[in-house]
Amino acid sequence: MNATTAKAAEKAVKKAASAKTAGVKTAAAKVSPAKTSPVRKTAVTPPGGESPTALVRRARRINRELAEVYPYAHPELDFENPFQLLVATVLSAQTTDLRVNQTTPALFAGYPTPEDLAAANPEVIEEILRPCGFFRAKTRSVIGLSEALVENFGGEVPGRLEDLVTLPGVGRKTAFVVLGNAFGRPGITVDTHFQRLVRRWQWTAETDPDKIEAAVGALFPKSDWTDLSHHVIWHGRRICHARKPACGACPIAPLCPAYGEGETDPEKAKKLLKYEKGGFPGQRLKPPQSYLDAGGRPAPPLGAA
Ligand code: SF4
Repeated sequence: MNATTAKAAEKAVKKAASAKTAGVKTAAAKVSPAKTSPVRKTAVTPPGGESPTALVRRARRINRELAEVYPYAHPELDFENPFQLLVATVLSAQTTDLRVNQTTPALFAGYPTPEDLAAANPEVIEEILRPCGFFRAKTRSVIGLSEALVENFGGEVPGRLEDLVTLPGVGRKTAFVVLGNAFGRPGITVDTHFQRLVRRWQWTAETDPDKIEAAVGALFPKSDWTDLSHHVIWHGRRICHARKPACGACPIAPLCPAYGEGETDPEKAKKLLKYEKGGFPGQRLKPPQSYLDAGGRPAPPLGAA
């Protein structure tokens, strides 16, 4: 890879990493949940003549409906601590969460801490990360962020947005994934699915991710932000696809102004649904105990009934 290509790849990795999905339940709450992530507030102007109150009601109803459809929605990356989630989220750029989950066990077995990864031989890490694609750029990112964690944060993942975004390969959206799921701090993850769906639902007409984050944040209490992100992203991955949304099989069709943008025939729409890919639930290979039912079985995947 020449210098220009490498630079472009690194840029793509950083951009896509920060656009990746949201998280699970809290894994390691080191920061008080009472402290919230700094999300800019903005006044909401509903499109299409809907009153602000009606928009809030419809938005919250959609979130409630999606919570019933995806009761186990969570980040689909396996992780056991904030460092693992941070690295896994960076690795998830331009690949599937399942691929990352298949790769990270070997990485974390050999390099469990930022100190270990900061001191690693890049060529060895490249070989481990090869299946994830962009493996040279991703190697630079994970070693670079590990070095920064050691040098600037005592080897600990910081629990503040402004600190996280100083790490190599970590953007605002990646930071919110980590804050929301490893620190229990509410955050809205505006990835590509989130942007597409909230515009289809006419929650906002904004196109800038930061403005979308602010507009949607104003529709919900902060305590809903992290789970809302999971619900929206899961719906985008499974039903409301970019090119062929399965409107005829969509549980929130009556609430959606974009109904009809995709296939409305129920039988044809069913064939468009995308189900779980790897472990249970979702793409995780090691679901935390909290996602298992009383009998120790995974929650049933979407469409299993
Ligand atoms: S009705 Fe269609 S466009 Fe609307 S949320 Fe469902 S799948 Fe997406």
